[in-house]
Amino acid sequence: MITVTKTFFPPIEEYKAYVDAIWENKWLTNNGDLTQELARKLKSHLDANHLILMTNGTLPIQIALNAFADEGEVITTPFSYVATTSSIVWEKCTPVFVDIHPDYLTIDETQIEQAITSRTTAILVTHVYGNPCDIDAIDVIAKKHNLKVIYDAAHCFGVTYKGKPIFNYGDVSVCSFHATKLFHTGEGGALFCQDEATYHQMLYRHKFGHDGPLRFHGIGINAKISELQSAMGLSVLPYIDDIIADRKRVCDLYDNLLDFKKLRRLKIRAHTEWNYSYYPIIFNSESDLLKTEKLLNANDIMPRRYFYPILSSLDYVNNTNNVSVSEDIAPRILCLPLYYGLENEDVKRISELVSNSIG
Ligand SMILES: *Cc1c(COP(=O)(O)O)cnc(C)c1O
Repeated sequence: MITVTKTFFPPIEEYKAYVDAIWENKWLTNNGDLTQELARKLKSHLDANHLILMTNGTLPIQIALNAFADEGEVITTPFSYVATTSSIVWEKCTPVFVDIHPDYLTIDETQIEQAITSRTTAILVTHVYGNPCDIDAIDVIAKKHNLKVIYDAAHCFGVTYKGKPIFNYGDVSVCSFHATKLFHTGEGGALFCQDEATYHQMLYRHKFGHDGPLRFHGIGINAKISELQSAMGLSVLPYIDDIIADRKRVCDLYDNLLDFKKLRRLKIRAHTEWNYSYYPIIFNSESDLLKTEKLLNANDIMPRRYFYPILSSLDYVNNTNNVSVSEDIAPRILCLPLYYGLENEDVKRISELVSNSIG
């Protein structure tokens, strides 16, 4: 069976060597040696200003909202993974949905200002599929209205925008290191921020507020990464350039083989060095998509409908804004299989099946 993604497994001896080090140290969590080593290496690899490793990619979103959003209204996108919206509601804030751009599929920045009210405290938007939002426009709006910007950059490992690492934009950016993501620690994630004050604010919040064993620096939760997770990250990191290069091979092949007369691909924003994290295709109709999905499934190929249904339709939110572009596009988007080691032959077969089904 060919699935939409496949977790990269580093050579087991390399993982075991890190596990041996854990056994020697007898230290499993609380900012251990391997966690410090991974943080150091990632900071340098990504050219990040500040980063805090965490146990998944959702808690850092919640921690940033907890620090910034003050149970207010949060401007957000309906086209993302559910964690973007559920985090807002979990933190007792109100999601205010703004529609997406039909080509880039990120928030339509021209519609943000009209959604801002006196209760708005933050903007939480997703660089969906690793495609950057219009960061400059969002920056101007946020400064004008004194709002914090949190980027859900879960898909963005390795992406740069205008020559700068994408995580170095916004007050906070968050990446996921889940097993299905491009770089992974099994479960894991990281919070990135630009200044020392925000770094400390987020650091204490992710470890119960502990400032040493006896003092507390405000309220906190437990989002610490463990040494076992960091061991996985350290074993995967040496392969990350190969992983991205191999995914580029697959994407280039799809670009060449698919027939784009009845399909459309994602438009990547200018000045972006992309990471080939997903291969979404947009059909002319949902029925074309369903027909194609059925044919692929019959051939043991399992694409995924990332991201459907849209988040403004979740039963625990109340949306009154117009999100017609999202409603129109989300039912027509399918992500094709894309992972390190996906064979050329299989990419050819998948492309042929897609063409046959809508041809
Ligand atoms: C994967 C993902 C998350 C959540 O990350 P976890 O590490 O699974 O908690 C958040 N937002 C988006 C857009 C994602 O794709």
